[in-house]
Order: sequence, then C-alpha cells, then structure tokens
Amino acid sequence: MRLGIISALQEEQAGLVEAMRGPSRLIHGKREYFAGHLWEIDAVCVLSRIGKVAAAMTATTLVEKFGVTHILFTGVAGAGDKSVRVGDIVVAESFVQHDMDASPLFPRFEVPLTGLTHFQPDQQMAVRLSGAAHDFLELDLLEAISETERREFRLEQPRVHRGLVASGDQFVNDRERLNAMNDALPGLVAVEMEGAAVAQVCFELGVPFAVLRTISDNANENAAPDFMRFVKSVAAQYAFHITRRMCRDLKDAPLQFSSDSAGT
Ligand code: SAH
Repeated sequence: MRLGIISALQEEQAGLVEAMRGPSRLIHGKREYFAGHLWEIDAVCVLSRIGKVAAAMTATTLVEKFGVTHILFTGVAGAGDKSVRVGDIVVAESFVQHDMDASPLFPRFEVPLTGLTHFQPDQQMAVRLSGAAHDFLELDLLEAISETERREFRLEQPRVHRGLVASGDQFVNDRERLNAMNDALPGLVAVEMEGAAVAQVCFELGVPFAVLRTISDNANENAAPDFMRFVKSVAAQYAFHITRRMCRDLKDAPLQFSSDSAGT
C-alpha cells in the first residue's frame, strides 16, 4: 500500500510533513509532494489547494506519477444540515458535484458520460476512518485541543457523521443557497470544494479513497470570521491525530483487497 494524503490547506499539512520519516520533496505541477513514512505507512503528502480542478489535478498526479494505491483527503467543510455542528466530523458516505448541471442534455448533477450523479468512497477505508475519528474524539480531544479553544469554539461533545457531501467551486456563505441545496440533495451533511472531484478521479482510475472533513462553519453569513483561526487551532489537530490513528490502524490490520469504490 502507498497512501496519498491530500490536505486542502497549509495548516493541515504542516504537522503531517513534520511527522514524516525520511521525507523527500519533489515539486511537480506547482505543488510540493513529500514522500516518506508516516507511522510506518509508505505515504505521499501534498497540498491540493482549493477547488475541484486543483483537487482533481492533485489526485491524478498522486496516482499516475507517485504510484499511490489509496487516497485519504482531510479538510474542513461547512455544515450541510442543522444537526451538524462546528467541531463535528464528517466521514463522507457519498459525493455529488453541486454545481454540475448539463441539463437538459443530462440530468442535473449527473457527470456527463458517466451516467452517475453520486460517487462513493471505499467502504472499508471509510469505516476505518470513522473508527479513527471516534477514537480521536473519545481519547485524544481533551489533550489535543486546549480548554480555552474548546470553549472559544464551543466544542461540546463533537460527533462523527456519515452522509452526503456536496462539492463545488464556491465558498457557501449564504443560508438561502444552502437551503436550496438541502432541497435538491437529500441527506446532505457537508459542503466543501474538493471531495467530489477527488471522488470522480478515484472512480475513473479505480483507486480506493476516503474523505475526512472537520466542520468549520455553518455555510451561512457567519462562515468567514475566524475561519483561519479555527483551521489552525482545531481542524489541523483533528486531521493530524485522526490520520495518525488511521495509519496505525492500517499498519496493524492492512486493508483487504477490494474494488468497491463506486457510483450511483
Ligand atoms: N479563507 C480561506 C478560504 C478557504 S476556502 C483562505 O483564504 O485560504 C474554503 C476551504 O474550506 C475549501 O478547501 C473548502 O473545501 C472548505 N470549506 C469550508 N467551509 C466551506 C463552505 N462553507 N463552503 C465551501 N467550502 C468550504
């Protein structure tokens, strides 16, 4: 196994690169790739930057140039439902590109010529990832994030959600827009800007993947304030510790061969 780890924001990646054993750095396509060992897993870390094209380009390069066999994406997202709160974790169960609309030629949300609107992560990886997320909340949270920060960001009993994640080239900070998405996409739990692009690439290349998102905002008018501070002091810690737990788990119990990354 060679695990590609994609982060969307610099703050999330820094800790992983620091933790890497024997990293070698390679610049390709305006991105820095760090190859080495993370908790004894052969891994390549890279910053995708923001948006669907940036993420698709990064995922493709990881597979085609760096030979990764699996991809893990970590990032932040806006809450897609009232039951999902800032500081909660979403492990995606399915992805849709909310800005894909080639109607009337193809149904809304369908990725032309795939016949699919929704793309699913690898079930085994997603189950392992949500296990790592649960363990993080139960065992690491109090130590990883100071009481001041927990109070400041109101992290009271954060939860792990599984569900539909919608991606598009737009930072959603408008309640009406979010409501419209909720109406069109039942089961929505998070909105972000990269996951569905990685999902399509992984589907087309047959590479198992999973996506972890820490909820940073409510995708409404208050989304922007404190965003970067939250990323640095909270989300980066979530991503680091959950990735650490995931790598240790993959080392102890390697994934069984499967080819269940799929679309519907
Ligand atoms: N202010 C930041 C911009 C971050 S863009 C900067 O200057 O760098 C938002 C990033 O977080 C994307 O990677 C996206 O996937 C995720 N995200 C978090 N909240 C989001 C929201 N409400 N809508 C869309 N993407 C969101």
